[in-house]
Amino acid sequence: MEKLEKQLCPFCHKNTLTVLEEEKKFSNNKAFLLSMSCSNCGCKETDVELETKTESKIELEIKNERDLKNKIISSSEAKIKIPELRMDLVKSGIFSVKDIILGFKKILEEDRDNAEDQIARKKAKNLLKKIWKFECGDLKFRIRLEDKSGNSMFDK
Ligand SMILES: [Zn+2]
Repeated sequence: MEKLEKQLCPFCHKNTLTVLEEEKKFSNNKAFLLSMSCSNCGCKETDVELETKTESKIELEIKNERDLKNKIISSSEAKIKIPELRMDLVKSGIFSVKDIILGFKKILEEDRDNAEDQIARKKAKNLLKKIWKFECGDLKFRIRLEDKSGNSMFDK
């Protein structure tokens, strides 16, 4: 792990940025995880680069509860999609499938409680029911990673 302190922050332009570089080994690839955080403006950024680049569109099927533990490595260029929900999410870093599900759940809960439109609220409510089934492995679904930079992958 490498740590660089007092770097120039791209947001507030002060020398208060800490950059951490970590290497993570996976079964068939290596990832370089870069995290930046600024003690002045509080900005936080994470990005990932893979040693061996992947295809720009990859998909993983989640069939049961055990599959929820699979890892998703996604760069800042990646779009994480669940076709069964017709939704996508941008989130970079290293996560489990379960973490990603929670990300989608948060968006939908927000819509369910705060959307102005009644139809949008109802739609969110129905999609949440699907997510509850995803969470306990009762309903199969797919996760798609679209990343033109080739820095995203799944790890089982
Ligand atoms: Zn800053």
